[in-house]
Amino acid sequence: MNKKNVLLISIDCLGTDKLFNNKVRHPFIDSLIASGAFCSKMFSSTSSTTPSIASIHTGLFPQQHGILSTYGHKLKKNVITLAQILKKEGYRTSASVGGPLNPGTKLNNGFDTYNFHPAETNFSFYRYNLNFKNNKKNERKIYKEYLDLVNNAQSPWFHWVHFLDLHNRWRVNRKKRDSGLSDYENAIEHFDQKLQALVSQIDLNETLLILVADHGHYVSSIDGNIEGVNYTEAHGFHVYDLLTNVPFIIVNKELIKSGTTVDTQVSTVDILPSILDLLSIDSSSKFSGRSFAQALSVSTKNQEYQTRPVYLQACGAILRKKGLPFLHAIRWGDWKYIKTQEDSDFQEELFNISVDPVEHQNVFNEYPQKVDELSDIMNELLKRMN
Ligand SMILES: [Zn+2]
Repeated sequence: MNKKNVLLISIDCLGTDKLFNNKVRHPFIDSLIASGAFCSKMFSSTSSTTPSIASIHTGLFPQQHGILSTYGHKLKKNVITLAQILKKEGYRTSASVGGPLNPGTKLNNGFDTYNFHPAETNFSFYRYNLNFKNNKKNERKIYKEYLDLVNNAQSPWFHWVHFLDLHNRWRVNRKKRDSGLSDYENAIEHFDQKLQALVSQIDLNETLLILVADHGHYVSSIDGNIEGVNYTEAHGFHVYDLLTNVPFIIVNKELIKSGTTVDTQVSTVDILPSILDLLSIDSSSKFSGRSFAQALSVSTKNQEYQTRPVYLQACGAILRKKGLPFLHAIRWGDWKYIKTQEDSDFQEELFNISVDPVEHQNVFNEYPQKVDELSDIMNELLKRMN
């Protein structure tokens, strides 16, 4: 079998809850789901950009890959990235990214070409400007790089593109706006059209397309107020499902069983081992993630995938800025248990997600046995990470 190209598209700030809120229309994303596979319970390792993106590229949790925050962190020396593995397999590797994903993070490891597009700003980070604004000039550059690659690159290639269209400054042409939707929701509809223009350029027989978000986004005008949360819109501050449940879509006409929906919970650390499995690449690297390729692949008859607890972390720069502790969580069955390892007045939390999906009712004091069970799972997991 010839080697498939790999196109990884990461979208900043797109939560599963907002994408499927029955208001936002995204016919192109729907068509991708119909022709490929979709995971309804994909959870990002963290709710902030750089640590989460690094988990996708390494199959490791933040304390293992080394990026616990946007500020001043980079991949540990011994950590292997997807780009490094694919490059070794003969792939041409390239990336077009912006926001905080500058080469100082070492996320450029393994990329032949790493196009980082900083926007104009006064705030500097490493040698690079840090700005989440995806300005028009950058968008044009990213699109041009993409077209150059699709039209000229020798196969097999791996290209990663990160879009910031949904990050904070939602710019949608007034004439194209739906007045019944919020700015954020309008931006999702707009992004769907942009995605169609990009993906229509590639052959989905020859390319494995992966679409994933780094985390969700809290928007008070949509989500209502959460007790103790004083933002109008933000992410990174907690591990609520609305911040960590992200869409994951994977498409290839020869490898992926079309119309598959995976409803068992998986983590973004599982993405890298799954990609390698689907491409029949053996890697000696150790990952915390586990492949769920058998739930996606055309060559697997039995699509059952054994679910397991998912570990989540809030380690965003937003917490450090406010002097708040990082949070750790285990999501397992109907429950989510949250604690911190730092000296803080944070009260442990337990949510019964099946009856309280928005996680408003902390039932920690009512289910001590459940707390013990999930706490044991978490301690075991954290022990293995260190
Ligand atoms: Zn982000």
